[in-house]
Amino acid sequence: MEEFLNYIGGERRPARSGAWLDSVNPATGKPWARIPASSAEDVDDAVQAAQQALETSGWAYVSAAERAARLRALADAIDTHTERLSEIETLDNGRPLRETRFAQLPGAALQVRYLAGLAENLHGSTVDIRSEAFAYTSWEPIGVTALIIPWNGPLPVFFSKVAASLAAGNAIVVKPAQQATASILEATRLFDEASFPPGLVNVVSGRGSEVGDAVAGHPGIGKISFTGSTETGRHIMQRATVNIKNLLLELGGKSPNIVFADADLDAAVAGVAAGIFTPNAGQACVAGSRVLIESSVYDEFVERLAAHAQSITVGDPMDLSTGMGPIATQAQYDTVRSYLQLGREEGADLAFGGRTTADLVKEGSPLRGGYYVEPTLFATRDNGLRISQEEIFGPVAVALPFDGDDQAVELANDTPYGLAAGLWTEDVRRAHRVTRRLRAGNVWVNTYKAMHWALPFGGHKQSGNGGTANGPTALHEWMDLKAVWMNIG
Ligand code: NAP
Ligand code: MG
Repeated sequence: MEEFLNYIGGERRPARSGAWLDSVNPATGKPWARIPASSAEDVDDAVQAAQQALETSGWAYVSAAERAARLRALADAIDTHTERLSEIETLDNGRPLRETRFAQLPGAALQVRYLAGLAENLHGSTVDIRSEAFAYTSWEPIGVTALIIPWNGPLPVFFSKVAASLAAGNAIVVKPAQQATASILEATRLFDEASFPPGLVNVVSGRGSEVGDAVAGHPGIGKISFTGSTETGRHIMQRATVNIKNLLLELGGKSPNIVFADADLDAAVAGVAAGIFTPNAGQACVAGSRVLIESSVYDEFVERLAAHAQSITVGDPMDLSTGMGPIATQAQYDTVRSYLQLGREEGADLAFGGRTTADLVKEGSPLRGGYYVEPTLFATRDNGLRISQEEIFGPVAVALPFDGDDQAVELANDTPYGLAAGLWTEDVRRAHRVTRRLRAGNVWVNTYKAMHWALPFGGHKQSGNGGTANGPTALHEWMDLKAVWMNIG
């Protein structure tokens, strides 16, 4: 078994307690590595190391050019180590290699370069008040910040958020998801290679209920960026009251993908499938998990979606020809299977799919212990069912029929979430009208799940708390605004 260590103050260490957790390969269900099972005292060490690194390096005050240079060196290191990092990520969370290696890590390097550019383009403003005043604003680093990461896309979240915090002049303590920590512990080596001052970046591995909870309640941490479930986000908000932490919460979703009868149906079938039957088995916060279909094309659309879904090969994530890999953890696999059962109990029709490992993988195959679910669609007219309302976080969608714009919008908005929405139509006026009425942080028209670091990303309603990642103001999330009034009369 491989072994990965915490990264605190520039050193690699086991947990103070000496405890370990196994990390499991979800393609086979077998442990392949062990990671430290840290506790609150390791979090204390990391916060202290971060504070000390800020003091000794003067990172908050080094030139923007120097911060940007270090980040560009980090981006180069990502490019150099893409192969090893992507293999570890795929081994650990099952996201197919064709995504980790050929999309996610190259994208992370480009995003880090974009953030380096933002570091060199931070601007305050001057404000005309009256003749004897000179008033201006400036953006200032927060100090010690933190990042709590989910298991579905660890490395892209890690690199983009850590780079943004460092670009802003902060230090950071990172708590990865216990089921997908190894790639992040390995990635800490890149900060040494890029000559960052030791202690600016710290990673503490362990359980959410211990390490995550200690981070959320730590009085030495001024900001937390959290990506994960709405339930955990709520808990972190409560813990963060201890010192009124600044929070960026990116939470769950139950996003509608709306197909109007006038859509280009070939494109819509491919786009709806790409939104939920993703290579990482629908474990995407923005997954288009409610497919709203205009009644007049409903039957035809479901039939064509079924044919498309059947063409997706479910299997080994290391194989570059695999269309969809496993669910990332045993616990999530159990959750998805319980929703497959619930959908039947609630009276929804199984339009297609529904099979899992026992029916999908031959006996004797090493994949037989893995967590596989095939693309699945339930059909119902009831948006109130639990399978219509709750985030399943697997390759399982619900199809609902509608008639006309008003009903589409009403169904689309009828959930506590507001992360994303998609709509498919050839009518440009309808596209604008419906987009305006959708309560979601991200809306896609005639595409789905398209993301770019230059475009803000965030959730409305219970999918977030108003902050946004990405885009030209990404560094502001990691900074405090100071207003200065000088009397010059
Ligand atoms: P989760 O249970 O909320 O876990 C996310 C992170 O929080 C993990 O690192 C977890 O640690 C940690 N955590 C758990 N309990 C904690 C506590 N009491 N205090 C502090 N931290 C704690 O979510 P998940 O099930 O891993 O991930 C799936 C969810 O993430 C989905 O709901 C999905 O929609 C959401 N997500 C949202 C976005 C977005 O950008 N909006 C992106 C990706 C995923 P452990 O796992 O180690 O216990
Ligand atoms: Mg794992």
